[in-house]
Amino acid sequence: MLEPTMTIAGKAEAGQETFPVLNPANGQVIGNAPECSADLLDAAVASAHEARQSWIADPAARSSALVEIADKLESNLEELAALITLEQGKPLHEARDELSAAAGDARYYSGLSLPVETISDNGERIVQVLRQPVGPVAAITPWNFPVGTAISKLSPALAAGATVVLKPSPYTPLSTLRFGELVADALPAGVLNIISGNDALGALMTSHPLVRMISFTGSVATGKKIAATAATDLKRIVLELGGNDPAIILDDADVDAVADGVFANAFANCGQICVAIKRVYAPESIYGQLVDALADRARAARLGDGQATGTEIGPLCNPAQRDRIEELVSDAVGNGVRVATGGSVADGSGYFFEPTVLAGLQGDERIVVEEQFGPALPVIQYSDVEQAIAQANDSHYGLGASVWTADPERGRTLAPRVESGTVWVNTHQSGIPGQPFGGFKWSGIGVEGGPWGMLAYTELQAIHTNRSDL
Ligand code: NAD
Repeated sequence: MLEPTMTIAGKAEAGQETFPVLNPANGQVIGNAPECSADLLDAAVASAHEARQSWIADPAARSSALVEIADKLESNLEELAALITLEQGKPLHEARDELSAAAGDARYYSGLSLPVETISDNGERIVQVLRQPVGPVAAITPWNFPVGTAISKLSPALAAGATVVLKPSPYTPLSTLRFGELVADALPAGVLNIISGNDALGALMTSHPLVRMISFTGSVATGKKIAATAATDLKRIVLELGGNDPAIILDDADVDAVADGVFANAFANCGQICVAIKRVYAPESIYGQLVDALADRARAARLGDGQATGTEIGPLCNPAQRDRIEELVSDAVGNGVRVATGGSVADGSGYFFEPTVLAGLQGDERIVVEEQFGPALPVIQYSDVEQAIAQANDSHYGLGASVWTADPERGRTLAPRVESGTVWVNTHQSGIPGQPFGGFKWSGIGVEGGPWGMLAYTELQAIHTNRSDL
């Protein structure tokens, strides 16, 4: 039985109580995680608060700690990947990719430092613009990329000089807690605290009086609650929330190439990615062919336990998410939508759902309007590209989108008209560590990634000095 500890003020903490963690491939208990009490939360936040000044004062230590974090992620990659697959369900190769990308993120931020800009330097005055870290930071993550999302928060925060208290999702705490154990020696006590617990612990973190910033990735519903809580104390926030990414296929696109790209970006991690393709807009001329090509790929994909060799799609991470997909697909079918393939809960004790492609939609069904976050993809027909762009933009969400075409310049011309934080041409989800990532509308506030992601953990400070005083 796996029983990793929390890391609070540099020490391993087992806590008084625990909660079970299940393997979504078979529903069996694989470990227990500590339920962090209010007292232990206080201790974690207090230690992050105390560690702040010396951490701010030592940029070299920040850079070398991030290099060590990247090294530890790489040298313990197999152990952590196995844990991610066990508690989250994704195929092992996807868990390895998550960790390699996370190591790249930490290494990227080890090379960044806070900018100092001199905006006036003359006979009368010097005016400089500095950045001062905000903190302690309460960082809260969801269950789809447990370690990847944790690293995408703590790397820019630590690089900026902020100290952190991090809580993973109660569905997937084991890999993040284990990561905390592995890096505990790489950081001064209190700089990075990792605690675990249920949603109520998240709410306690966000209302804690010593917390000055909240960095949250998760659902829109929780993001709105956090924004409301933060407002009462004017805490700073970065919110990375849900998405309902449209893929707009143009009439010149190669059907097979598009089907490969769209399928991979809709069904990776069993569709549980904020920037997965979640609705496809295809022109009349190739609609039928594209639906068939996507359905062929969905039928051929090997569904199974993420630990098994050859598995391409794992289970949903938890029963609630599996039930949600079932509900949205049933709702669509009840409204006359055609199931091109899939459509049902798959056999077995795990939380599996058949990879599903839906056709013949009007565009106002729940599975088109809401974020499904699972392996069921609606394909909507359009007759003119203006209509497709209007439908893509007619959404509360605005995280990612893509345009697929044989003419990339045509794609690049259309891309800025799609209302989302990232628009890809002939790809989706691709990114480099220096690339900013954030959502328009309900998909978020603020960005992660690149220097912008680090500056999010700072406040801007102007220093104005008269020459006569120097
Ligand atoms: P969730 O909002 O239910 O939970 C996320 C985290 O918030 C968990 O750790 C949970 O314990 C905590 N939490 C729950 N209630 C809280 C509260 N009132 N106060 C503080 N913390 C609270 O989300 P989820 O179901 O774990 O994740 C799925 C969602 O996350 C999807 O909508 C998905 O699109 C989104 N997501 C967004 C991004 C992005 O970068 N934009 C990335 C991954 C996932």
